[in-house]
Amino acid sequence: MNMEELAEIGREIERHRIAGSDAMEALVAGTMTAEQAETKRKRLMQANQAIKDRLKALILRDYLTTAGQMGRMVKALEACEQEAERDRSADEQNYCQKCGRRFMWRNVGRDHYCCCDTCKTADWAGSNLFSNWRDEDPSDWELNKEILKGYRQA
Ligand SMILES: [Zn+2]
Repeated sequence: MNMEELAEIGREIERHRIAGSDAMEALVAGTMTAEQAETKRKRLMQANQAIKDRLKALILRDYLTTAGQMGRMVKALEACEQEAERDRSADEQNYCQKCGRRFMWRNVGRDHYCCCDTCKTADWAGSNLFSNWRDEDPSDWELNKEILKGYRQA
């Protein structure tokens, strides 16, 4: 809200009020005819209507600015929520849907298996998706193979 503009409008309203009361006094004193007073009254009413229109425009502009800012804040909040939701669903993929425990990932060569050690389930997830298998050696894979023998496919 432009306070300078509001103060200016306030001063204008006061000038109109004084002009109106001056015209009334002049009419009573006989220094102004009824016709002149009526013309002056009409002009003042028009000027006051113009002020009302200006005030309405200011209110609308103020409202739109505030509403626009709030709208952007709501959008930002929604984006945050979506982000959090996405993180959560990505993380859910690391947990067993049956028992809720975190999966163990085991490699046999370049093949990755997603295992739940509680439910004794293992799912082949793909080959060479992660590079960690390169840090392992055949003895690791033999051990994993033995573990997976007792696991069924989820
Ligand atoms: Zn499980």
